Amino acid sequence: MERRRQSQCQTSPSQASGRLSHVLVEANALPLPGSLELAAVTTSTNPSEQSKSSAATVSVVVPVYNEEENLPILHERLSNVLSKLGRTWEVVYVDDGSSDGSLAWLQALAAREPRVQVVELSRNFGQHPAILAGFSVARGDIVVTLDADLQNPPEEIPKLIETLEQGNFDVVGGWRTGRHDPWVRQLASRLVNTMTRLAIGSPIHDHGCMLRAYRRAVVEEIVACDERSSFIPALAQALAKRSTEIPVAHAARLHGTSKYSILNLLRLTFDLLTGFSLLPIQLVSLTGVVVALGGVAFGIFLFVRRLIVGPEAEGLFTLFAILFVCLGILIFAVGVVGEYVGRIFLEVRRRPTYRIRAVHAAKSR
Ligand code: UDP
Ligand code: MG
Repeated sequence: MERRRQSQCQTSPSQASGRLSHVLVEANALPLPGSLELAAVTTSTNPSEQSKSSAATVSVVVPVYNEEENLPILHERLSNVLSKLGRTWEVVYVDDGSSDGSLAWLQALAAREPRVQVVELSRNFGQHPAILAGFSVARGDIVVTLDADLQNPPEEIPKLIETLEQGNFDVVGGWRTGRHDPWVRQLASRLVNTMTRLAIGSPIHDHGCMLRAYRRAVVEEIVACDERSSFIPALAQALAKRSTEIPVAHAARLHGTSKYSILNLLRLTFDLLTGFSLLPIQLVSLTGVVVALGGVAFGIFLFVRRLIVGPEAEGLFTLFAILFVCLGILIFAVGVVGEYVGRIFLEVRRRPTYRIRAVHAAKSR
């Protein structure tokens, strides 16, 4: 199945939330065939518990790329946490072109568990496009995102939802405390977060943390955006009226290794900086002006020096050094301009950010 994000624009937020009437279904009972209700989770006959069924429904979106060893543990921990919320919930796993057994395991899970949808992408598109694909099918009033490698503990989800609702926020981000990543990665993250804060004027401290909760309206606006830049936390920040950030725990990756190489991270950083701000190109222009003014000042200095001391016989290598610095700035400037031209090219080409091949769900949904 192929879906353009554009098609989502036709659904207004109110229409979409209207699709979700919060019908309480006994635990393990299947929802009505063909109905769009999420399966409810509570087994309680306690009226105060049951009244929670009218509370906002929750969808959890998880991007998955070769995570077969992590999935069984992740799903067990996730469903334990979500069951205790006393709300209607679903988990949307997005298989981002995995080449291991992840998709097969997820398909089997979706066949027996009505609270699970599995979105199969046609190839590997990347973590952020995968989350976007998940957003396009998630139906909860609150949508939570989380990594599949258990670096974001699912046990933090209730805290995010509570903050979202009590503070009436549109977005609540996680701020990873006590990070379990290599120090080079942590240093790079700090640098990127500072640059991003300056470039896009975003107050977020941790743009890389995917443990976040969004209100349905923001999710629909993100899906409707239909632009190539898909850095979800920054996009949400730009669209949300009220957002906040709370500290969340962070763990070491359970199995496997990070799917991001240094090159991928650099690309993502460039995408973030040039996708949300014109500051880089303005800085380049400013640097050009400063270098030109420096050149004029240096020329005046050499001229005055020649009048006072006489012609300069040496200094050839100094000139080389200055030349290399200017050349470096020039090449960097061309690169930055190229980045923006590349963005225009991608927008003009209008290839979809992701392609959904199939959505797997239990027949009785
Ligand atoms: N991921 C994905 N597509 C990709 C790369 C990663 O869906 O091309 C998923 C991955 O399976 C995981 C999450 O995105 O659930 C975060 O990836 P990873 O743990 O490798 O990133 P890191 O924690 O090193 O930033
Ligand atoms: Mg990870």
